[in-house]
Amino acid sequence: MTQLPLRAQLASALGRTAATLSRVTGRGDGSVIGGRVGLMLEPDLLRKLAADRKLVLISATNGKTTTTRLITSELQELGEVATNAFGANMPAGHVSALSQSKQAPFGVLEVDEKYLPEVLATTGATVVCLMNLSRDQMDRAAEIWLLAQKWQRALTDVDTHVIANCDDPLVTWGASTASRVTWVSCGQPWKEDSWCCPQCGGPLDRKDNDWACRECTFRRPEPSWVLDDDAVIDPRGQRWVLDLQLPGRANRANAAIALATAETFGLPADRALPRLREVTSVAGRYTTVERDGRSMRLLLAKNPAGWLEAFEVSDPALPIVLSVNAQGPDGRDTSWLWDVDYRILTGRPVYVTGQRRLDLALRLDVAGVPFELCETFDAAVARQAPGRVDVIANYTAFQQIRAEFGRAV
Ligand SMILES: [Zn+2]
Repeated sequence: MTQLPLRAQLASALGRTAATLSRVTGRGDGSVIGGRVGLMLEPDLLRKLAADRKLVLISATNGKTTTTRLITSELQELGEVATNAFGANMPAGHVSALSQSKQAPFGVLEVDEKYLPEVLATTGATVVCLMNLSRDQMDRAAEIWLLAQKWQRALTDVDTHVIANCDDPLVTWGASTASRVTWVSCGQPWKEDSWCCPQCGGPLDRKDNDWACRECTFRRPEPSWVLDDDAVIDPRGQRWVLDLQLPGRANRANAAIALATAETFGLPADRALPRLREVTSVAGRYTTVERDGRSMRLLLAKNPAGWLEAFEVSDPALPIVLSVNAQGPDGRDTSWLWDVDYRILTGRPVYVTGQRRLDLALRLDVAGVPFELCETFDAAVARQAPGRVDVIANYTAFQQIRAEFGRAV
């Protein structure tokens, strides 16, 4: 990476300075502003920074940040890895990540689903991981099909190896034009967005993880890697018990993708798996924070599929705080709350807070789930007896809670 042209070197250096200034002035972690400054000075900076490296791009509706972290941890077994650990997943964030580790032979980048075609075309990444596609908000239902169509175009005639979840019909369709695909069966607990064939619009017949269109030839490809409960079965039939520190089925699915990715870099599961087990929390997710004798575990849920995952991880014996906002990244429309089945919370003490606590309260009321309404997160915490508590929050609510604890997590 030392052979960067002078202009690119300068752009990259100034970007890093801007990032540092942003951090010291407390405006954020600096990963976006630094990249923006760099791109302003040298629009081709991302391509130049990506050249001569082996890059993995990771895209999905849910699990991108965690899978990025898992694959980074694995590839560190082989050498230095540049990554956007803070989830800044658009080109400015990628520029910043690659600028910060200029010598790293590997790059592992989380990519916003919409930006994947652009970032793939710019970087010519070696591997692309595609895991799941579901809508974030009600008003975006049609968008995910269009997105998958853009993935198809982006993957046509490129020499990129795709690692994709074949249990998700839309992901399968999006990856179907790639010349090289490793199919991984990692399940699809949230099926509400994929009852129709993406190819012809016909009904999909489903049984467990398998699916096939009733009206055309589109059907689930045979996977070479399979997530089987607490283990992953590799293409040779060997079963690897995951035993991760990260909780829940969704993270085991992420780990299956990560193990399949590692193999494309020649890193076998027996070397990759210990690296996956080292990961304990990702950008504050699954971390426990302490206040006045309460231990609060933080779970992020940004959309209906994410809420299902969070419920699966949360401990039914514990009280639970739910916080919902509707600011920029959350989307202003909270109608998706109606898609989530909250009855699973019945019997637990439930505390509702966040900017849109009244929307959530109405939803719980209709579902017949008793709850207590709290003005603020602090008020919800104050209502807890000392001991363990689960907290599920959507994006900006989660970030607010993290900020309150000094982002120590
Ligand atoms: Zn069909």
